[in-house]
Amino acid sequence: MTFIAKSFGVAAIMATSALCAFGASAQEPAQNDGLNGTLWLQTSVEYKTTAMSVYAGATRLLPAAIGDHSWTAALEQDGNFMAKKPAVILDVDETVLDNSAYQSWVVTEDTSYSSKTWAAFVNDAISTPTPGALEFTKAAAAKGVEVFYVSNRKAPEEAATIKNLQEYGFPFADEKHVMLRGEIETWGSAKAPRRQAVADDYRVIMLFGDNFGDFTDDIDGSIDERLEVMDKYATYWGERWFMLPNPSYGSWESAAFGNDWKKSPEARRQDKLDSMAPWAGPTE
Ligand SMILES: [Mg+2]
Repeated sequence: MTFIAKSFGVAAIMATSALCAFGASAQEPAQNDGLNGTLWLQTSVEYKTTAMSVYAGATRLLPAAIGDHSWTAALEQDGNFMAKKPAVILDVDETVLDNSAYQSWVVTEDTSYSSKTWAAFVNDAISTPTPGALEFTKAAAAKGVEVFYVSNRKAPEEAATIKNLQEYGFPFADEKHVMLRGEIETWGSAKAPRRQAVADDYRVIMLFGDNFGDFTDDIDGSIDERLEVMDKYATYWGERWFMLPNPSYGSWESAAFGNDWKKSPEARRQDKLDSMAPWAGPTE
């Protein structure tokens, strides 16, 4: 009897453990590749101070860039631009506006980006300024520099984008200075035509972005090809071109899978793993 009771007790404990284990595994957080990057963007002192440092460095360079009339940051700048009024061009998403709430939604819901949910988020106009962006743009405007916002948000999202920028007092947040994808037929996702349009009338002294395409259109190569383009413009970084970190999304990610979004999520993930250069591990 004792043996039976003990055996039953052990069996009961084992069954309970099995249920607990099953219950625990059913509630385990989803394995989403965006978790760490988005957590870093949204919560870390390390992200915020990096963004603040980028903008602080640019602010210190404003007098030099304004005063040197041969100074230009736009590859599209041509002709005699020395007498043109100075301007800066900034990307919007993850450059002047922080959309980590959208990215966090993607991660916590274990879903993925879609243009439909993104448009709904943009139209809520709840994004907050990227640390340092407001201070920099206001400092530039105070020194007579016009501020242009060149974003791949779509043309129908212009009113919500302007509303969001105006809410925080970003200077020049108007239809002329907010230049979105598709506003004009030639304004596709590549940004050179819009940089060209600004450079036609202004001397573009600084560019800001979180994505390689915010500086050059030569971004769709392999990882090694992108690094070559980066090196080609080595003297621009930190002086005329200012990159904000974005570990959540960007062309750096798609470069790892040949920019082929038709590949399955599993194939893209494998390509990303294969793109890394791991240590061989400890020797026995
Ligand atoms: Mg961006």
